Amino acid sequence: MVKIAVVGSVAIDLVVTANKRPIAGETVLGDSFRTVPGGKGANQAVAAARLGAEVSMIACVGDDVYGQAIKNNLQDNGVDITYVEPVTGIASGTAHITLAEGDNSIIVVKGANDSVTPQFVQRAQPAIERADIILVQQEIPAETVVYLAELCTKLGKKLLINPAPARKISEVVIEQSAYVTPNEHEFALLFEGENRADVLKKYPNKIFITEGKNGVRYFDGNEERVIPSFIVEAIDTTGAGDTFNGAFAVAVAEGKSYEESVRFANRAASLSVTKFGAQGGMPTRAEVEGSLN
Ligand code: ADP
Repeated sequence: MVKIAVVGSVAIDLVVTANKRPIAGETVLGDSFRTVPGGKGANQAVAAARLGAEVSMIACVGDDVYGQAIKNNLQDNGVDITYVEPVTGIASGTAHITLAEGDNSIIVVKGANDSVTPQFVQRAQPAIERADIILVQQEIPAETVVYLAELCTKLGKKLLINPAPARKISEVVIEQSAYVTPNEHEFALLFEGENRADVLKKYPNKIFITEGKNGVRYFDGNEERVIPSFIVEAIDTTGAGDTFNGAFAVAVAEGKSYEESVRFANRAASLSVTKFGAQGGMPTRAEVEGSLN
């Protein structure tokens, strides 16, 4: 069993459906309401745990009912929550989603995710030392990503940075990380004005660009490759990138080749988009392996 530590966000999505969204000052009746666990960090932790990894989550929740719900969900999925800490006087991370008129509108409140500071990560260092690979995204403070990259370098640990949501990262941090997995939009922001082929060549087997249903692009040391994803009927692509990252981390930690790892992660992510919700469709190991060939 490979060991993975995820440093990142945890949240609850509060989803309401209605015929119309209210304008300022208006009240409308909604049709349904549900709460769905989310946060890129939690999503990636759950994806990796479903695929058989031993996963430790390093995150902060608020001192509210959602904090407990977030922890329960991680535990139900077999994720270790020793380092998921409640922060007094702060709300848990939430996303307030209205589905109306054929579109969504979202307000994200980062809440306790802003408390994932370098000092907090320092306290969770035992989990990082135990891990074969560490995952981080960008829904936590930028300085924490910088600190973690330095720490992983010092400890000789592999760090996978999923630069989502899009936010600039310094060249030093990219150098210090083992893998960077932007989607096309994030890649464009990270390497603004640079030629894509040149960037990939500069970082062989390090930068893996996820390109939705087209699959994943990287430079393997000899040539630029695109490993296509699998053709599926997509129902909800929320969390596709999270499933990809969790699965890719599991595969590379297990010692699979990069090509095999990308295929494994493409398969996991393509299965995840066939069901509703970021975590709802995340496949088990058996589901991925049973459908790989
Ligand atoms: P993000 O969710 O971060 O924007 P992408 O949209 O690039 O990331 O999706 C990540 C991965 O999920 C892709 O590389 C691919 O493996 C898989 N994927 C996403 N959308 C589809 C789809 N419609 N069909 C098959 N695979 C998909």
